[in-house]
Amino acid sequence: MSHRNEATAALKALSVATDACRECPLGAHATQSVFGEGPVGAALMVVGEQPGDKEDLVGRPFVGPAGKLFDRAVAELGWSREKLYVTNAVKHFKYEPRGKRRMHKTPGQREVDACHHWLESEMELVQPRACIALGGTAARSLLGRPVAVMTERGQWVEDAATGRRVLVTLHPSALLRGDPLQREAAWEAWLKDLSMASELMKKAGARRPAEKQPAAEKPEKPAARPAANHARRRVRMVME
Ligand code: SF4
Repeated sequence: MSHRNEATAALKALSVATDACRECPLGAHATQSVFGEGPVGAALMVVGEQPGDKEDLVGRPFVGPAGKLFDRAVAELGWSREKLYVTNAVKHFKYEPRGKRRMHKTPGQREVDACHHWLESEMELVQPRACIALGGTAARSLLGRPVAVMTERGQWVEDAATGRRVLVTLHPSALLRGDPLQREAAWEAWLKDLSMASELMKKAGARRPAEKQPAAEKPEKPAARPAANHARRRVRMVME
């Protein structure tokens, strides 16, 4: 089996494993886990916060209202969603029942931490060249520190511990919740942030997604964090 097929099979196995995961309380209340989607070797991994109501019911990431807004941005930027790997920092939907509705509730740091090794496992298998963090939860999970999104948005940030490159911006749900009078300006600013990754997407379009990068282009990885080691062990177990 080729490396790409092995990694794709391992991602499927991880998706099943997250569904059974009860490492934090969220797994017991959601309909199902929502794992990432996209090709192994995708140049960009896009990370959101957690699945929403629609994603929880359908079992796929970025298919609710915020996901549709993201799709619109992807189309405007001339990217292709099929070439992106999209996922969330937390794999189960956290909500508060209100009548018949389930209202989104921001995951707590303990839940984000509990779920982090699944994200690291995805990273290990997909091997993206860079990530986009949509919102503070995703940014913190990827960079391992609190991130002031409004200050750090629209620029590439490199994590010294992992060499990981992350473009930080708002989660699309922030645009949906924002002041209607400011919506057009917020949309343009968000597109501008995301467009920082267009050059990378353009270069990636010229090569097949799973192609290995020349060793010289890879950033050196200093000591990996415990979560990354954990992910590596888990990936090995799934792939064996
Ligand atoms: S949210 Fe993450 S850590 Fe919590 S139960 Fe689901 S998969 Fe496990």
